[in-house]
Amino acid sequence: MIELFATDKLKELYPRVQRFVQEELIPMEMSLLHGTRNEVEDGLERLRIKAKSLGFWAPYLPENEGGLGLSLVEFAQLSELLAMTPLGHYALNCQAPDIGNIELLEKYAADNLKHAFLEPLIQGKIRSCFSMTEPDFAGSNPVQMGTTAVLQGNEWVINGHKWFTSSADGAAFAIVMAVTDPAASPYQRASMILVPTDTPGFNLVRNIPIMGEAGFGYVSHAEIKYENCRVPGENIIGKPGMGFLLAQERLGPGRIHHCMRWIGISERALDLMCQRAASRDMGDGTKLGHKQTIQNWIAESRASINAARYMVLHAAHKMDQEGTKAARLEISTIKFFVADVMMTVLDRAIQTHGALGITDDLVLSWWYRHERGARIYDGPDEVHKASLAKSILKNYGLNQGS
Ligand SMILES: Cc1cc2nc3c(=O)[nH]c(=O)nc-3n(C[C@H](O)[C@H](O)[C@H](O)COP(=O)(O)OP(=O)(O)OC[C@H]3O[C@@H](n4cnc5c(N)ncnc54)[C@H](O)[C@@H]3O)c2cc1C
Repeated sequence: MIELFATDKLKELYPRVQRFVQEELIPMEMSLLHGTRNEVEDGLERLRIKAKSLGFWAPYLPENEGGLGLSLVEFAQLSELLAMTPLGHYALNCQAPDIGNIELLEKYAADNLKHAFLEPLIQGKIRSCFSMTEPDFAGSNPVQMGTTAVLQGNEWVINGHKWFTSSADGAAFAIVMAVTDPAASPYQRASMILVPTDTPGFNLVRNIPIMGEAGFGYVSHAEIKYENCRVPGENIIGKPGMGFLLAQERLGPGRIHHCMRWIGISERALDLMCQRAASRDMGDGTKLGHKQTIQNWIAESRASINAARYMVLHAAHKMDQEGTKAARLEISTIKFFVADVMMTVLDRAIQTHGALGITDDLVLSWWYRHERGARIYDGPDEVHKASLAKSILKNYGLNQGS
């Protein structure tokens, strides 16, 4: 927690959540690495019950909706704490992709959808997923899309092939991005439609193996075929043609959430690195931490994490004050910068541990596999760097069309 950004609410909450993370969550994390599906899911459920009983549930939601009513800047700092273990966000029901879907449904879903899907999602009774990316089209240019939704009578008939629909395995519904008006201008062609996963034609092909691990349940990424999948016309989120607008809106706070999570991961990795450096006996009367290379890594990691944290909180503050659009460049900047900090710190922490670093006896290897995607999803590094550079070069009169 940074004094400059600490509110009374956060000061009261932070040490209590910190204790919860250290005493309840971290001791459980090895079961995520080694447990069976049942063990992992039962364990997560127990943690959720505990988090609820301690009054930590859904911190980003307004108090009248069962949350803690935190601002983005407050939630960002709590989020860093929760990220010290892969279980933190799930335990408090503030994990992606559900958090983004909750925000979307709250603002744009019809009342009957809210009742049937949003309420149980907020209560943690069901999970959800977000289905936009397709194997046959470059996700970096999201206006290209093969999935269509055609209105027949009062039903949308959806056909298409998606992949990397995270957490679809076991989810109760997907929010699907599909072209609803091919003749419209590119940014008004698509819409978001809520599809219950038990709808005939929702076919989960597989959980895609990633770096040797297909995962399951919440921790998985699915390939899905929508084959004549029919849902009621009223399952549209917002209005037809609003798909890209809503996707942008969903991504703004989502990127802040990811970045703060990555800072928490970096902090834990640095902590593990320092513990190892201070304790590993090199046999010549020195510890690993006496070596200058290790000292450089520790110092450089400390400096980059501190810098990243201030950058993210500044972006969150701007979003809280001026909205997502105004903070667009700050968000692009932190998206690639913080992902790089995290991957660099994780790599150093693994190297400091030697062979132990790549084993599943530590959480580092889990993060190394699962967080590599940070440089790809929600806009690859290169796209965010291009946006930032173009806006800087505009000040120098460079024609952006060239
Ligand atoms: C772990 C993970 C979870 C995900 N979860 C979801 C999810 O829940 N729902 C969902 O719909 N999608 C999800 N995605 C998909 C993600 O949004 C896409 O992977 C992303 O948009 C990139 O699209 P692509 O994979 O098609 O890569 P492409 O668009 O084919 O790009 C490939 C590479 O080209 C380079 N590149 C792209 N554009 C430019 C440019 N302008 N300049 C220079 N280089 C460029 C980048 O290096 C990029 O990595 C997830 C992805 C990952 C890795």
